[in-house]
This record gives sequence, C-alpha cells and structure tokens, in this order.
Amino acid sequence: MTPTPNETAKPHFRSDVSVELVKHTASDSDVLWAARVSTAGEQSLEELNKDPERSKGLINYLMRDRHGSPFEHNSMTFFISAPIFVFREFMRHRVGWSYNEESGRYRELEPVFYVPGEERKLVQQGRPGKYEFVAGTPKQHQMVTEAMGAAYRRSYEAYQDMLAAGVAREVARAVLPVGLYSSMYATCNARSLMHFLGLRTQHELAKVPSFPQREIEMVGEQMEAHWAKLMPLTYAAFNNNGRVAP
Ligand SMILES: Cc1cc2nc3c(=O)[nH]c(=O)nc-3n(C[C@H](O)[C@H](O)[C@H](O)COP(=O)(O)OP(=O)(O)OC[C@H]3O[C@@H](n4cnc5c(N)ncnc54)[C@H](O)[C@@H]3O)c2cc1C
Repeated sequence: MTPTPNETAKPHFRSDVSVELVKHTASDSDVLWAARVSTAGEQSLEELNKDPERSKGLINYLMRDRHGSPFEHNSMTFFISAPIFVFREFMRHRVGWSYNEESGRYRELEPVFYVPGEERKLVQQGRPGKYEFVAGTPKQHQMVTEAMGAAYRRSYEAYQDMLAAGVAREVARAVLPVGLYSSMYATCNARSLMHFLGLRTQHELAKVPSFPQREIEMVGEQMEAHWAKLMPLTYAAFNNNGRVAP
C-alpha cells in the first residue's frame, strides 16, 4: 500500500520523557509469599500478615544476602515515551524485561523531537570513567536548540518528501535521527527493575556508583517512583542495602 504522507505535520519539540504505569500485580506480599514457601509450604499465604516486623526483616535479609528469586513473582507494565537514543540503551537490559515498540514500518512516524531543557547539563569534563557534567552557557543552550531544531526539521522534511514520492515508510525512516520520540510498553519485575535502577540512576545511597546518561535516568526516576508506591518494604530494603539488585 502506498503510504499517505502527513503533509500538515509540524515538528514538535520536547525536553521531557513520560512513564505511565499501565498494569501491575506487584506488592511486598508477593516477595514474602515466595520466600516463605520454602519453609512453610502450603501454609505460606496464611503467614503473610501475622507479623509485619518479621516481614520487613525477611525482605531485608533476602535483599542483603542477595536471595533474588522471591523478587521475581510480580509484574509491572510501563508505557514509556522517550527519544530513540534512550530506547537503544534501554533495550540492552535483556533479562526479566519484555518490550513492544511502535513501528516505523506500519505507521508514519510523528515529528516529535528531543531538545535538552535548560536544566540539562551540557558540558562534559574529565576523562573516561571520571566524567563530570557542568551547566552550559546560555549561548551553548541557544546553539543546541537551534542546531537540533534545524537538523530535525530538515530530516523530517526529507522523510515527508520521500513518503510523498511513494517511498515505503520502512525505507524513508532511515533519514530520521535518534532524537525522534518513540513509545513502547516495557514489562519487568522488581528484580529486573532493581538491576536497571542500579545501573541507570545515580543515587547517594548507591554502594556501586553508576554514571548513566541523564535522559535514561529521567525514565528510571519515574519508574522508581511508581514502584516505590507498590512495594514500599522492598523499595526501602533496596535503598538500605546500597541499591544493588539481589
Ligand atoms: C553507564 C553505562 C554505560 C554503558 N556504556 C556502554 C557502551 O559504551 N557500550 C555498550 O555496548 N554498552 C554500554 N552499556 C550497556 C551495558 O554494557 C549493559 O549492556 C547494560 O547496562 C545492561 O546490563 P546487563 O547486561 O547487566 O543487563 P541484562 O541484560 O538485563 O542482564 C542482567 C544480568 O544477567 C546476566 N546476564 C545476562 N546476559 C548474560 C550473558 N549473555 N552471559 C552471562 N550473563 C548474562 C548478568 O549477570 C547481567 O548483569 C552501558 C551501561 C551503563 C549503565
């Protein structure tokens, strides 16, 4: 079928990412249930709410001693909108994650592009492994905004021209940059999310510091906020034990 180009589409620029929790079955009791089955057998469900302090202690023990599998019996599905360069990093996380991303073959891609906001530190200093980011000058911000805007407009125009000439979407999309927004469903469990957060966020409580790109960290921070509400005891134990996934 010949693609129908969206001739009225005008580039739209964003500096944020969005993360929606669309579905979940995730609670601290899932962890307790799974852990206690090894000692209490069929009775484990009844044991759950008997002693809250003991439950908290058990979750902390599992986290501290890295007994990881009880943290897998739960599920969270997020709908994420972010630039393609973020998804490229995101999908390196293979274990305990399922992904479905919008298709550039079956639909025309919307002209939504990433431009760093004013708070995004622009300048990298130091040597590999010891980088630090510092604020850019107003002139640098202006340059980034203008250069990205011009490049995005030019590439989207070329995309539209090719679609108008009858070129397939899957071919024409090659001209679009990694600053284009995409969207995906990502499903994980608490254990795989903790591994992700340990690598993709910076946090004062982290025993092993990581240095993620800010834009994937913005996604991680929003997922973390959702998860913290669903599994507060597990979340506290993660922080109290240096944010290392069990
Ligand atoms: C700050 C930062 C910088 C990075 N820079 C680069 C870069 O420059 N270039 C680049 O290519 N990548 C880079 N990465 C990606 C990184 O190498 C990992 O691919 C990514 O963080 C996913 O981690 P993971 O493999 O532990 O996660 P997952 O794929 O979710 O795996 C989870 C765990 O399962 C085990 N596992 C999974 N697969 C295997 C396997 N095949 N064999 C043995 N054990 C396995 C490991 O214990 C692993 O930690 C970077 C990541 C970070 C956080």
